[in-house]
Amino acid sequence: MDFRLTDEQRELQQAARAFARAELRPIAEVLERDNVPPSRDLVKRYAEMGFLGVNVPEALGGLGLGNVEALIVLEEFAKISSAVAFPIFESMVGPVRAIEHFGSDSLKQRIVPKVCSGEMIVAVAMSEPEAGSALTDLRTRAVVDGERVTLNGTKRWCSGGGHADAYVVYCRLNDDPGASAIGAVLVEKGASGLSFGPNESLMGFRGIPSADLNFDDCVVPLDNVIVPAGGFKKLMEAFDLERCGNATMALGQASGALEDVIAYVQERKQFGKPLAEFQAVQMKLADMQMKVEAARLLIWRAAANAESGLPSVLDSSVGKCFANSIAREVTGDALQLMGAYGYSREFPMERRLRDSWGWGIAGGAIDIQKVNIAGAMLGRRFDQRR
Ligand SMILES: Cc1cc2nc3c(=O)[nH]c(=O)nc-3n(C[C@H](O)[C@H](O)[C@H](O)COP(=O)(O)OP(=O)(O)OC[C@H]3O[C@@H](n4cnc5c(N)ncnc54)[C@H](O)[C@@H]3O)c2cc1C
Repeated sequence: MDFRLTDEQRELQQAARAFARAELRPIAEVLERDNVPPSRDLVKRYAEMGFLGVNVPEALGGLGLGNVEALIVLEEFAKISSAVAFPIFESMVGPVRAIEHFGSDSLKQRIVPKVCSGEMIVAVAMSEPEAGSALTDLRTRAVVDGERVTLNGTKRWCSGGGHADAYVVYCRLNDDPGASAIGAVLVEKGASGLSFGPNESLMGFRGIPSADLNFDDCVVPLDNVIVPAGGFKKLMEAFDLERCGNATMALGQASGALEDVIAYVQERKQFGKPLAEFQAVQMKLADMQMKVEAARLLIWRAAANAESGLPSVLDSSVGKCFANSIAREVTGDALQLMGAYGYSREFPMERRLRDSWGWGIAGGAIDIQKVNIAGAMLGRRFDQRR
């Protein structure tokens, strides 16, 4: 067991860090102020630097590295802001990985290289008005008829909704009850019968558009079926990687807050000396450091254990649950240590706190992760309906 990064991993981390620190801070401020996503030009720049496909096979346009490398890069962007990191999150750990793992060869070739080159953004549409934590209650129906698939239903809270070029839509592909009918279909933005609700106004996640998707006899080709009915387990396996990405986005809020506050408490003086000289401040810093380090190790363990495939539900849920929880605590402590400056919108600290709250709901609420963890620990599935 070796907890050190390799030289190559450190170089990649440095490259991501240098780019993110040098260029993305002013952009993050604009995305937050105007609540707009990163420009397509910026996404293309990410692509040119290889940041969109770190863990995607070279044959599909990526760098062919592992999930650990992808998450190392993602954290450096997330430290700046969720919005600037979101295109990287979507491309490296998002729904496009379900296409890569389970789609037909022609679908993979059509979509994945375009995502790596920044020409296409793919979002995930799972949640519905009546199906949040109880995802298998989803009702969106897809009917296969020869070479066509017709979808009807409504999706809610889709991050990237209205902005992304394509959507991995979880839907029922037959009339069986529960999870056994669930699969996923790719719907491209211009598909007939697809419309979007207004952009949601959320507590955080500014610069990450969120909208309902409405399918009204929406027609797509049969090749767009990524996973047929009965493939819910497969979709959840791909989602185990997304969970590590969600955890890394939360971690980035915490580790970015810690880096900023370490500088602040050494500079800001009260009672004639820097804040860092007060023992109560030192205790807080130590607590924050322990939480950030522990979250990072849990996430990297989940990714490293799954280097050749997808992480386990136990490892990924432990990482997400812990990172989601400590991100709220660490950003809250960092805000407190900056006093009124932390509370001011002039500085990124309050934004990190708001975004941290969102990461602990998105991709499965913290308590749902605990249900997953207990189930995996005891080798059982706890049916929430009985
Ligand atoms: C910022 C953000 C981004 C999102 N992005 C996307 C996206 O891109 N695509 C998408 O499909 N969805 C997205 N979502 C939706 C997200 O997946 C759901 O919000 C989440 O699964 C919780 O569902 P819900 O909001 O309906 O809460 P509910 O299911 O109503 O749950 C509310 C609360 O009740 C508790 N609870 C519920 N069930 C249980 C249980 N069995 N045991 C213990 N406690 C329980 C939990 O504390 C939970 O937080 C996003 C949400 C947010 C906030």
